[in-house]
Amino acid sequence: MASESEPPSGGPIRVADVAPRLEVLRERIAAAGRDPDDLTIMAVTKAFGPDAAEAALALGLNTLGENYVQEMVAKLTQVRVPEGVRPEWHFIGRLQRNKVRLLVGLVDVIETLDRPSLAREIARRMPSQRVFVQVNISEEPQKGGCAVGDTATLVNEARDLGLNVEGLMGVAAAGDLDRARSQFRTLRRLADELELRERSMGMTADLEAALAEGSTIIRVGSALFGPRAPRRRD
Ligand SMILES: *Cc1c(COP(=O)(O)O)cnc(C)c1O
Repeated sequence: MASESEPPSGGPIRVADVAPRLEVLRERIAAAGRDPDDLTIMAVTKAFGPDAAEAALALGLNTLGENYVQEMVAKLTQVRVPEGVRPEWHFIGRLQRNKVRLLVGLVDVIETLDRPSLAREIARRMPSQRVFVQVNISEEPQKGGCAVGDTATLVNEARDLGLNVEGLMGVAAAGDLDRARSQFRTLRRLADELELRERSMGMTADLEAALAEGSTIIRVGSALFGPRAPRRRD
């Protein structure tokens, strides 16, 4: 990982910087036994400017992930989208009910549906919205996601509300890759049981573990763009 020792970049993110990192990432994916063209590499652009999203789009990474509502809304208006390209924006951060309305018409997939009250608000504002249910596979109280045991109920509630539930999303505990892998295995088992196609799991630090457990979408920020500056509050 070339990025670990670099200082957070203050300057613009350029295609020429991201291209070799994407090459390294694709090699990591192949080394993990997966075909990089057979899964979605989401470019997580949080804390970076519109230039990061533009670099991703220039390199064919059309799936973009953002964590903070205001940051995403502002960035969307700034990103210059190349002719003929249709970016797909995924929301991957904690979502408060009172911010759902800000995402109307802007977000393609909300990956962090984790409670019935949020499902109701999304369904009310955005009928048949594409969503993933986020599962708290690490069982850490500070993390988002529904309890593993509540997943089926929440998926069914969301379906009953008319939401288009396409997959599950999970964030593993940091540090121990064997533990991360067993948490990803849990997400995969749940997705299989519920017949959900997409499993959004794995980020820069743990993507091999996620790929081994059948991830269909990896969410990658620092491996593409370098280290992030500390974030401001949303
Ligand atoms: C920031 C973030 C990522 C990307 O993290 P990196 O370590 O930069 O790859 C992925 N998923 C979620 C939910 C995030 O918040």
